[in-house]
Amino acid sequence: MDRIMPNRLDRGFKIYQKEFEEKALQVLRSGWYVLGEEVKGFEQEFASYTGAKHCVGLASGLDALWIAFRILGIGVGDEVIVQGNTYIASVMGITINGATPVFVEPDEFYNIDVSMIESKITDKTKAVLVVHLYGQASNMKPIMNICKKYKLKLVEDCAQAHGACFDGQQVGTFGDIGCFSFYPSKNLGAFGDAGAIITNDDSIAKDVRVFRNYGSEKRYYNKVVGANSRLDEIQAGLLRVRLSHLDELCYEKQALCERYLERIQNNKIELPRIREGATHIWHQFVIKSDYRDDLQCFLEDKGIGTIIHYPIPPHLSEAYKYLGLSEGTLPVTEKYAKSVLSIPLYNGMTTNEQNYVIDTINQF
Ligand SMILES: *Cc1c(COP(=O)(O)O)cnc(C)c1O
Repeated sequence: MDRIMPNRLDRGFKIYQKEFEEKALQVLRSGWYVLGEEVKGFEQEFASYTGAKHCVGLASGLDALWIAFRILGIGVGDEVIVQGNTYIASVMGITINGATPVFVEPDEFYNIDVSMIESKITDKTKAVLVVHLYGQASNMKPIMNICKKYKLKLVEDCAQAHGACFDGQQVGTFGDIGCFSFYPSKNLGAFGDAGAIITNDDSIAKDVRVFRNYGSEKRYYNKVVGANSRLDEIQAGLLRVRLSHLDELCYEKQALCERYLERIQNNKIELPRIREGATHIWHQFVIKSDYRDDLQCFLEDKGIGTIIHYPIPPHLSEAYKYLGLSEGTLPVTEKYAKSVLSIPLYNGMTTNEQNYVIDTINQF
């Protein structure tokens, strides 16, 4: 069998190849390439998909995050609570604005441990950034209560969780702003960089819309020092195609993951669990093992590629040395970094491929 890669974006493309190619050609021939009818259409359709009042398309997920905090007025001297085991972009969204991340340990579902949030709140705390990691919705009810009690803003990093729900409500709609990435490998992936925010707040939506285009509402009249974080028409058009099939793409991944959950049987390996009230859209299928490094080498030798999400927690990365957080500050986060492993999962994965992955993992 050919080497099995952790992800195969070509397979996801091929499922709807004709529709993608037609849309790309249509945009190329239209003569309009940035912030046009496709972007407007995508924004309406994604808002309606998530149940949010507004969606504003942006150039990336990182832009969605830092612009969210900028618009909420969070910056130098402010603290934002975030889980320690996240992709570093979550943290950069906070620190680009000069604010300080305050890390909280994750729970057994890899999302923020809500029982540890209150002890981290100080008079500088302005917001909580919830990350719905790997595709599973976080425990939103207690988080909402804490934010209400301490009057904190709530921002959601939904880059890995398009369409995931808690108590039937979609992620991104619980707080002030929901931030999305449409990087090609995400469940709702573009063919280049793209992102968006969703919000129910009219004035936030308007501010982000102005900010993304150099702070100008009317051409050459600039109200604030903004950014260039515009979404282009090709990405928006291709995202509309993918969004129209997102539910079936999610079902396919879910069926693959249910098979993994049923058939992987190895007492050296812990399988992912789902919280009551939450849904998981399986951006990644993440297993945990005390023998992770050996397991990864074993699988690689057998022609199965895997990825670690993430090997270095943000607080220990060189970029955040200045925070002065040494090894041992976040033992659960650090333990996860040494024991998690994402196994191959993608739309268009064949039963043969999956059986080979399952059998090989069970041999370990
Ligand atoms: C991918 C990702 C981002 C960043 O998105 P980009 O589009 O790559 O900028 C932020 N947070 C999380 C959790 C992500 O997985």
